[in-house]
Amino acid sequence: MTKLVTLIKGDGIGPEITDAVKKVFAAAQVPVEWEEENAGETTLETVGELIPGSLLNSIKKNKIALKGPITTPVGKGFKSVNVQLRQAFNLYQNIRPCVSTEGVASRFSNVNLCIFRENTEGLYAGLEYMDERLQIADSISRVSWEGCYNIVKGAFEYAHKMGCKKVTLVHKANILKNAGKLLLKAGDEISKQYPDIKYEDKIVDNMCMQLVIKPEQFDVIVTTNLFGDILSDLCAGLVGGLGVVAGANVGDEIAIFEAVHGTAPDIAGQGKANPTALLRSAIMMLHHMELHDHARNIENAINETLLHKDQCTGDLGGSASTTEFTDFVIEKLKK
Ligand code: ATP
Repeated sequence: MTKLVTLIKGDGIGPEITDAVKKVFAAAQVPVEWEEENAGETTLETVGELIPGSLLNSIKKNKIALKGPITTPVGKGFKSVNVQLRQAFNLYQNIRPCVSTEGVASRFSNVNLCIFRENTEGLYAGLEYMDERLQIADSISRVSWEGCYNIVKGAFEYAHKMGCKKVTLVHKANILKNAGKLLLKAGDEISKQYPDIKYEDKIVDNMCMQLVIKPEQFDVIVTTNLFGDILSDLCAGLVGGLGVVAGANVGDEIAIFEAVHGTAPDIAGQGKANPTALLRSAIMMLHHMELHDHARNIENAINETLLHKDQCTGDLGGSASTTEFTDFVIEKLKK
């Protein structure tokens, strides 16, 4: 039976890479029908709303969405569209697997880790105050016990399901003492429920150094919103860059899948964008929908394409356009 999925094309390279996913899904005969809605800067200009109600209703109804990157206009008082969507649907888990791929150039060939980033709290809670007279700005990082518990529980559940050996909790409890205490308490409590999974905690600065020296020692990483944002880009750099890293925003009922990268305005509209990250996010979505065979078919075709540098986009050292790369993937699908 065909399932309805909300598709958000977004801004910048969004339309190019979402078109690539649509083309690959059609060629692979994936039983998904797209319900196209949009949000972001382009939507504000054309429809007059940054996040139209029809988009929210579509996600609420379908419970699943694939989203291209979105621009939130800066300096006009708008709260980030990405953050608003995550908070509106309580998508408290941001899951970002970073895995080395044969053929994709990087300093490391043995990275296989997954970041669990808390997705609704911390410095993204939106608690910001500006005293214009004194020129003092406050950005408050608020975390709750529930938020800490849910993200750490999510990470351990994933580790258990996927047979991962270790969970590393990343914090800054030596400076952010109260927030650190809550997160570490969740780690202590939940790790006891999973005696077969090794548990450790690391301070974020040390974690950055460890990741760039010996990333293969990590398996599942769980952390707060801001640290997760930064570590995700760092880890993307360990496996070939932002063009290849997928992501999922998952709550108890609704999930929105999106690449880790942003709108890449420097290459937007030029046919240079690598659609792999969004395609891999779409593969995560297919697994979430229990369409595992379709997911594996597309994944194999992408991995095979990535073995040929001449078939890859510029960010991976190739010279293929977005469309050419997409067509190479389609050629390799099992029909
Ligand atoms: P944001 O604030 O939305 O995260 P950003 O400008 O910080 O945006 P990105 O848009 O993710 O970051 O881009 C960072 C760099 O990576 C840019 O040089 C961009 O061209 C490159 N990049 C990002 N995504 C891709 C992609 N899919 N294919 C090729 N290059 C990409």
